[in-house]
Amino acid sequence: MKRIILLSCAVMLAVALSFMTVRPGGAAARSLEIYYVDVEGGAATLIVTPAGESILVDAGWPGFDGRDAGRIVRAMKTAGIEAIDHLITTHYHTDHYGGIPQLAERVRIRKFYDHGPMSKLDEDRDFAKKYAAYQNANKGRSITLKPGDSIKLRREAGSPPVSLLCLAARREVVASKSMAPVPNSICSTAEAKAEDPSDNAQSVVFLLRYGAFDFLDTGDLTWNIEQKLVCPRNMIGQVDLYQVGHHGLNSSNNPVVLRSIDPTVAIMNNGPRKGGHPDIVKWLRELPGLKDLYQVHRNVTTTDDQNTAAELIANLEEKEDSAHMIRVSVDAMNKRFTVTNDRNSLSRSYQIK
Ligand SMILES: [Zn+2]
Repeated sequence: MKRIILLSCAVMLAVALSFMTVRPGGAAARSLEIYYVDVEGGAATLIVTPAGESILVDAGWPGFDGRDAGRIVRAMKTAGIEAIDHLITTHYHTDHYGGIPQLAERVRIRKFYDHGPMSKLDEDRDFAKKYAAYQNANKGRSITLKPGDSIKLRREAGSPPVSLLCLAARREVVASKSMAPVPNSICSTAEAKAEDPSDNAQSVVFLLRYGAFDFLDTGDLTWNIEQKLVCPRNMIGQVDLYQVGHHGLNSSNNPVVLRSIDPTVAIMNNGPRKGGHPDIVKWLRELPGLKDLYQVHRNVTTTDDQNTAAELIANLEEKEDSAHMIRVSVDAMNKRFTVTNDRNSLSRSYQIK
């Protein structure tokens, strides 16, 4: 009898292991992992698929002795990966693509994506120099993402498919009535702002889908183009995870968009004195579906009430080089995702919509 029990345990273990091949980083291969690297008010979001394929969205700031490249490399080690398969630049602002040359010196980056070639940028006097450094890092071989394009990602056997769809780029928005056949009633409250001539309005926006899990990253996209994504039709749908747009500034995060996507969890990659606007914290809190808002930093210029709960903030002090991350682990098989604050190891689990 004992032998039968032992044998059946061994069989069960073998079956379980065949579903959960373990990567060097220790994560079970059936989960998709997202790492919010702290780049002090810039952006660097690392995604590792169940098949071990990696996507880095933006690479933080240049300078500071390679600080941001170093932090991204540290996150890659935690994730158990040695190269970046796909690097997406949402737009050509220093806090998003400035760190790419330093990162490219340290790790292999296989493919680069952006919203297309640019010859000048009015808001950046040093654009020519920074853009040349970026071109040098990608050897002039970046791929232009247009609305409707997708990045092909490998599917892990036994796991749901993973897809990454570009919804907007260069002020254009994906157009397909079949994606959203019914007009969005929330649009009756929509209000336009003055046109934004900056590269923020050209940001690449994408929707990452793993099984039923949806993650929306809008880069630094601003108000009016944001609105086009959900009005007159909601081309995004409701999402599980929202990367709060533009580090939580109120020139982005149009409430019509927030109410249309009604995320379960929002993660804000603000700095201690950048983004994290009280309006955005308030608007997110008012959403019917939002369970938790996480912040990479506490906004030290506003009150505790105007920040999310301290336990959901990765970095509390302004002068802190600990650079704690926020991590998301998506188990699409069990229809749940877990968010962990690396500072205090607090983990919370949420149901996928
Ligand atoms: Zn930015």
